[in-house]
Amino acid sequence: MQYYSTNKSTPFVSLKEAVIKGLAADNGLFMPERIEKFPPSFFETIHQLSFQEIAFEVALKFFGEDIEPGKLREIVFDTLQFDCPLVKVTENIFSLELFHGPTLAFKDVGARFMARLLNHFLDKKEKQVNVLVATSGDTGSAVANGFLGVEGIHVYVLYPKGKVSKIQESQFTTLGKNITALEIDGTFDDCQHLVKTAFSDKELNEKLVLTSANSINVARFLPQAFYYFNAYARLKEYGVLDSKKLVISVPSGNFGNLTAGLFAREMGLPVQQFIAANNENDVVYQYLKSGEYNPGPSVETIANAMDVGAPSNFARILDLYNYSHKIISEKIRGFRYSNDEIRETVKQVYEQTGYLCDPHGACGYRALDEDLGKNQVGVFLETAHPAKFTETMEAVVGKGNVPLPAKLAAFLKGERNVNSLGKTYAGFKEFILNQ
Ligand SMILES: *Cc1c(COP(=O)(O)O)cnc(C)c1O
Repeated sequence: MQYYSTNKSTPFVSLKEAVIKGLAADNGLFMPERIEKFPPSFFETIHQLSFQEIAFEVALKFFGEDIEPGKLREIVFDTLQFDCPLVKVTENIFSLELFHGPTLAFKDVGARFMARLLNHFLDKKEKQVNVLVATSGDTGSAVANGFLGVEGIHVYVLYPKGKVSKIQESQFTTLGKNITALEIDGTFDDCQHLVKTAFSDKELNEKLVLTSANSINVARFLPQAFYYFNAYARLKEYGVLDSKKLVISVPSGNFGNLTAGLFAREMGLPVQQFIAANNENDVVYQYLKSGEYNPGPSVETIANAMDVGAPSNFARILDLYNYSHKIISEKIRGFRYSNDEIRETVKQVYEQTGYLCDPHGACGYRALDEDLGKNQVGVFLETAHPAKFTETMEAVVGKGNVPLPAKLAAFLKGERNVNSLGKTYAGFKEFILNQ
């Protein structure tokens, strides 16, 4: 399978090149040249397959021409050493829990898949590859842990100083080995800008092999489709799909997760409606309403992994639907919530059902609660474990009501090792070149 750039001014590339480059030479995002469909019969018996088996079938559609099936199966099964279960919250709202991986957030799926795929492509002792990743919280930890100890790869995690939680920070600043943490005196958008500038810096790219592990990388982005298929299969087991149509609500920041869901639907997954649930960073919400797209600086919220003012993957959504606002606003319904609304939702769901939504999942839940019709059943993506946001959560549901999983407690005990940098590109470049 070949990959083209959303900016359409560079030639098609192979999967290997798309994964190593991350971003196309014209600064566009890579897209697979075609999207393979499953026959409808696949969905009649999909519930007989395990999550890992379903994921392998999906992976074959994306990567089957480029990776030998036995190897691909190994990569998929090794990536998914944890489950993504579907949990019933109310009569017709279900939570797709994506937080059972090593860093307790959905990004573990894509990051672990990408690390294994990159390692497969680098088998033949090539030059060291440097992974640059900008994070607003969870990407950094998922990527760092996904790549930790993988030979031939060095990871630089750039994060905005003082803007990620202590727990999030500990997950990429305490690892050591091939992981370097860079604290940037700026915002997430500044971090992302540094990474993007590095990729288009000719001189730097002649000296070093650079790649991105942000959600723009096809090896991170496409595997996120796996769990949408699994949600459908597990929901079928509950028996609700016989009489109701599926609505999936995705808490969105950079829009990689939602775009993977849209791909799943293009592959035939029977989803009647997708919802993009935003916090106050509502540039896509505004676009869906008005047709005007005005990216700007990000705003800080309590759902900080969605604090993105210029979502990268929006370019893929535009490309997928031929830049048609009419089509896009039919395919995606938009909702946006303030910090107060998010807190209110966390509290209400907890009091009424006993279920703890994290601040991101709460946006997804609330959109379903407001929007579901009589003949619809909703699944929202629970994108991170609530304990990753202990301070925010405890302020809402009370101290002691947000248990800390052992995996997270272990990170907090590690020794912190950080390099502090300003937000200028020159300083960043010098640092990387001196490593
Ligand atoms: C990254 C992240 C999001 C946003 O996902 P995108 O793919 O960037 O839209 C939502 N919730 C959590 C917890 C995240 O870490």
